[in-house]
Amino acid sequence: MVRIAKLEEQMEGELKKKETKGLLEKELQNLIKKQRAAALSEGMNIARRMNRIDRVISLLVENSEKIVNALKEDFGHRSPEGSLATDIFGTLSSLKYAKRNLRKWARPSKRRSLFPLGVFGARTRIEYQPLGSVGVIVPWNFPFNLAFGPLGSIFSAGNRVIIKPSEFTPVSSDLTKHLVLEYFEEEEVSVVIGGPEVGATFCSQPFDHLLFTGSTSVAPSILRSAAENLVPVTLELGGKSPVIVSDTADLKTTAKRIMAGKTLNAGQICLAPDYLLVDKKVSETLVRELKLATKHMFPTMINNPDYSSIINQQHRDRLNSLLDDAERKGAELIELKPEGENFLTERQGKMPPYLVLSTSGDMVIMTDEIFGPILPVIEYDHIQEAISFINERPRPLGLYFFGSNKREEEAVVQGTVSGGVAINDVIAHIMQDDAPFGGVGDSGTGSYHGYEGFINFSHSKTVFSQTSYEFPLKITRPPYGAGIRRFLEIMIRK
Ligand code: NAD
Repeated sequence: MVRIAKLEEQMEGELKKKETKGLLEKELQNLIKKQRAAALSEGMNIARRMNRIDRVISLLVENSEKIVNALKEDFGHRSPEGSLATDIFGTLSSLKYAKRNLRKWARPSKRRSLFPLGVFGARTRIEYQPLGSVGVIVPWNFPFNLAFGPLGSIFSAGNRVIIKPSEFTPVSSDLTKHLVLEYFEEEEVSVVIGGPEVGATFCSQPFDHLLFTGSTSVAPSILRSAAENLVPVTLELGGKSPVIVSDTADLKTTAKRIMAGKTLNAGQICLAPDYLLVDKKVSETLVRELKLATKHMFPTMINNPDYSSIINQQHRDRLNSLLDDAERKGAELIELKPEGENFLTERQGKMPPYLVLSTSGDMVIMTDEIFGPILPVIEYDHIQEAISFINERPRPLGLYFFGSNKREEEAVVQGTVSGGVAINDVIAHIMQDDAPFGGVGDSGTGSYHGYEGFINFSHSKTVFSQTSYEFPLKITRPPYGAGIRRFLEIMIRK
């Protein structure tokens, strides 16, 4: 009897789930229809596009304190300056850049018409048309940057948006929903709250484009769902971004820049330096400098507002299991914690940075994206060895080279394929608003930011206007005669 009651309960739960799913599908489909119609009826109204970007800017600036606090609550602790720099400033600069340039980007582009039609007055142009309604799926590590940053590209191209934030940041997701309701009509932006199940329903809808920012492991299911409706997808994924340190690098500066990138948001950044490949000749000095740089930035960590927490227990467990696995397989762990601090009794969920020496390929730390404050250090004898090491693995999102040898730099840039590259720094290439940001292969497809972002979310529609003269066309129609034969004879040549 107990079993039957349990079964009935389960079935009821399943039915409720289906009902909720059905309601969500209906709600999303209605919204998509409304948003698509609104985008189409507005056409090329540049002022309205700018106004929408302005409202995103206002939303972020006017609510920056609420945003910083929401992030603090979600993370346990999140550095306020870190949040202002990444989730607010980093988002604003790309929005402002899009607003400044969208008039130029959206101008129709004149193209050459096929000879000889152009001579007779035929004209060809490209109209950059909005796609319609874009679905945006957001991860937890930069909830505001990754929900609102893409709107620079999406709005400049004249589209509307439905956002699904992450279930791991409930306070930030809730704030996102409230702020969007305050600043936008639902035909412009709408927010749907929920976890992977809602996400799965979300990406099965007939959007005009889907932007997924998240992990490489989830991406195939996003693509499969989107394929059912032939929805084009931009994938902004993660991966293991390597850092190469040549023996020509200024090791003090290099160490400071690497550790600043690795400890920002406690390493929970898609572009965080994932592992180091260092010339054997300078590896010992570099390790010493990495320790010093960390000590200088964080004389304390537990009560230091500049040092952020790991998002939740699940991720702390995951990071600790990476360390256990590496240690079990022979790695040497160097914990970069301030003297006397005890992280076991710490209550905000912080974890100190670690360097991992003597790694091997079978360690999970060398196969999975780390996404936390752990940094494996691997030595190489020759730059080509470092390049081969990278090329034997999935294509990374970011790749960093430190050194002053231009030949080595060129060999790294030309000899590897990654989403982007930063020379003598880490992560900083994402801040260059005039350049696209995106991955390649396992780290993503498509991009946003800059002109390429505008193109990514536009339909480049060719519009051809035929000549009014009949002469050049007449010969192309049956009955074929000497005219067309002569024309083809002239044209079909090498
Ligand atoms: P995730 O893939 O687990 O989740 C991302 C989003 O997808 C969340 O909103 C989640 O609810 C949703 N989701 C999860 N499973 C789903 C499914 N089956 N169908 C539909 N939606 C689903 O990623 P995460 O843990 O939130 O974020 C960390 C990952 O994101 C890392 O790999 C990181 O490198 C990557 N990332 C990439 C960028 C970038 O710009 N390239 C930026 C930030 C984070």
